[in-house]
Amino acid sequence: MSDPVPQRAEIVVDLAAVRHNVRILKDLVSVDGPVQLMTVVKADGYGHGMVEVAAAARDAGADWLGVATIDEALALRAAGDEGPLLCWLSAPGDDFAAAVRAGVEVTAYSVAELDEIAAAGPARVQLKVDTGLSRGGAARADWESLFAAAAAHEEAGRVRVTGVFSHLAASDEPDHPANDQQEQSFRDALALAERAGLAPDVTHLANSAATLLRPSSHFDLVRCGIASYGLDPAPGTSPRIGLRPAMTVRARLVLSKEVAAGDGVSYGHTWVAPQDTTVGLVPAGYAEGIPRAAGNTASAWVADSLRPVRGRVCMDQLVVDLQGELLPPGTEVVLFGPGDRGEPTAQDWAEAVGTISYEIVTRVGGRLVRRHV
Ligand code: PLP
Repeated sequence: MSDPVPQRAEIVVDLAAVRHNVRILKDLVSVDGPVQLMTVVKADGYGHGMVEVAAAARDAGADWLGVATIDEALALRAAGDEGPLLCWLSAPGDDFAAAVRAGVEVTAYSVAELDEIAAAGPARVQLKVDTGLSRGGAARADWESLFAAAAAHEEAGRVRVTGVFSHLAASDEPDHPANDQQEQSFRDALALAERAGLAPDVTHLANSAATLLRPSSHFDLVRCGIASYGLDPAPGTSPRIGLRPAMTVRARLVLSKEVAAGDGVSYGHTWVAPQDTTVGLVPAGYAEGIPRAAGNTASAWVADSLRPVRGRVCMDQLVVDLQGELLPPGTEVVLFGPGDRGEPTAQDWAEAVGTISYEIVTRVGGRLVRRHV
């Protein structure tokens, strides 16, 4: 880490790691032909800072950016991004006209949505089909009517259908039968779209896990979120291709002190010292998005050792076991980071608290200062 003096408690985002990851992903999908790469930067760049990550991704060769909402897309345009940009989750009352004016490609799941987009047109629109996730996208029974409506709007010059896409349910489990089934359904949808007279520029299905594990799902473009941040979409996949976690969450120790055998630590005394030891106070808690479930499950890295979180995580602070050492206030505490110094990763924290790394990195924030290096 280039700056040895952390803030009180901060998120440090290594944009060089993001650029490195984007380059690796782009090289990976380019092996078998010209597949485009979309870097997914929704939810504030998975907690890493949407605008900064977007610029880093573009620098490193991302062809597209992907976000969920129109507001996210407009924020990217306001920050100066001018490249291909897709958003895919509209809600009643959304301002499609603003998206169209900003050159953002929007997504239609239904004829009603498509009509609304066409009224704000001429718009560049992508059609999302549900191939088995049973979440967003047109249900199979509605594909033909959606494609027919899209072709009619295209004919009238109100829209240009630039893409057809879908999303996988179980790409992190490569042997799950849903993968084959969804890929086949997607091919069926593309055949129907062609029959309706549509000729989209891009067809796409793969997220990070499918990008890494399932080349047959790459089509014209892959949409990579979590892997761009160096985290694992499926166990062990990111390190195998040299991806580097971009986020470090660290703090400075407020104090360290002795506790005696039998002393309870933090609310509810859910941890009682089995022997005399020392503990350290870390100024970050669940208001900073540190999971409360990290109490007695996760560890931090302090003075070159793993130090278990003891007792409950509080709103503003948590306690680590310093295992007999008294360390000066200001000592660096790394909650999680890339792992190359021995510190836990976001994946380690996710496993400790029973969630996925996506949730760990998108939730940290609150009073933490976020700094890009
Ligand atoms: N595509 C869509 C439609 C998504 O909603 C997401 C994120 O959930 C992604 C791609 C990126 O997924 P991942 O972060 O697993 O690469």
